[in-house]
Amino acid sequence: MNQGDAVPELDATRADVRAWLDDAWDPDLALGEWRARLVDAGWGCPTWPRDLYGRGLDLAAARSVSEELAGVGAPGPAAGSAMRLAAPTILAHADHDLARRLLRPIATGEETWCQLFSEPGNGSDLAGLTTRAERDGDEWIITGQKVWTTGARTAAFGMLLARTDWDAPKHRGITYFAFPMRQDGVEVRPLRQMNGHASFNEVFLTEARVPTAFAIGDLGGGWAAALTTLAHERGLGQGPPRTTDVSGRAAREAAEEAAEYARTYVWYPQRAGRADLAVPHARAGGLASDPIARQAVADLHGLERTARWSADRAAAARRAGLPPGPEGSIAKLAGSEISRRSGHLHTRMAGPAGMLAGAGAGFDGTIAEILISTPAASIAGGTDEIQRNIVGERSLGLPKEPGDNRDVPFRATRRN
Ligand SMILES: Cc1cc2nc3c(=O)[nH]c(=O)nc-3n(C[C@H](O)[C@H](O)[C@H](O)COP(=O)(O)OP(=O)(O)OC[C@H]3O[C@@H](n4cnc5c(N)ncnc54)[C@H](O)[C@@H]3O)c2cc1C
Repeated sequence: MNQGDAVPELDATRADVRAWLDDAWDPDLALGEWRARLVDAGWGCPTWPRDLYGRGLDLAAARSVSEELAGVGAPGPAAGSAMRLAAPTILAHADHDLARRLLRPIATGEETWCQLFSEPGNGSDLAGLTTRAERDGDEWIITGQKVWTTGARTAAFGMLLARTDWDAPKHRGITYFAFPMRQDGVEVRPLRQMNGHASFNEVFLTEARVPTAFAIGDLGGGWAAALTTLAHERGLGQGPPRTTDVSGRAAREAAEEAAEYARTYVWYPQRAGRADLAVPHARAGGLASDPIARQAVADLHGLERTARWSADRAAAARRAGLPPGPEGSIAKLAGSEISRRSGHLHTRMAGPAGMLAGAGAGFDGTIAEILISTPAASIAGGTDEIQRNIVGERSLGLPKEPGDNRDVPFRATRRN
């Protein structure tokens, strides 16, 4: 089949969703009402199973559905880390009743999530976490501290990793919970970053409670669920097409929701290095003919291209139904390198003026913000060193790191 040929199954899907939109789509609905219709009909998250608000479609068909929604100006399901990280973990590991409870408000946007993984002494060594969960009837009582938790102030739920068994080896005594954030015993304190923004927080948990039924996966089996979350965090995903038409109430409210969400992530383009500014910046700085600047820009562009091909390979593997693999780590490493090189390029071209911040500075102070935001790219979601360890151990078959106490009861191990 040639590229561009119609695929009959995709045409059938498009016809189905169009017929449904003819009846169901009304631009004047409130966003909540519209999303409830969309999600309950299975068109909001069409790759999800039929009994979990989906239609069991593959990624290609789901993309056709998104295009049809965008085509009439209808907002899709909610975006964000609940959809990107929590939902795939719930789908892969939660029991059916819990999945039904948790997935619908994720898709409608009624409940947002944060990721309660990192602790002051355990970021890279995540399996060494010491937040404790103690059983009390139908509940677990949670005590400990999490840190770097993005979006904790607004989240309804946390993807919580807590230790439920101190006598099991460190990877086998952890349980993954859907943790209700709005309760006594949860204190969220914002952290101010060196770039002036405050998108993440410390979270103090003092005898907070979570129902036993809110364990995602098996008791003590939280590490497997955590790996699912982390694999999706590393994936370099392209979001579905979204409507830019904001003429009706639903679309207007979706745009407001997106703008509110983006406030937390407003510095993320700078964190990624703003490779898109390299050429305009070279031109504006009179360096468009400078051979060294040209070489650096071409080098950056080449790296971006190859990273995109790796991401395309990963997307093709996902379409073929394969689980997330090492491409995620490779894509993440490429992303770190792009932001680092891009940051260097901007600062070299800007010279000392690049250190100026604020609206009066060149490029609205973006260069200074890039410079102090790019280190985050090689830390968030697992550092570069950890990604290299993953590729080395899981793809290249190198020996595991020595001394990680995999078989020793956690209680007996040396800890941070
Ligand atoms: C922008 C941003 C957003 C974040 N959001 C969240 C969030 O929402 N939720 C959450 O839970 N966490 C979040 N984090 C935390 C992030 O996951 C951790 O910072 C990260 O995993 C590293 O852990 P750490 O900071 O404790 O560093 P450490 O683990 O202390 O590492 C320090 C240094 O030692 C190196 N190192 C450590 N172990 C090894 C090893 N075995 N081999 C080689 N080198 C090693 C590391 O690469 C690093 O250079 C976020 C971080 C950032 C920057």
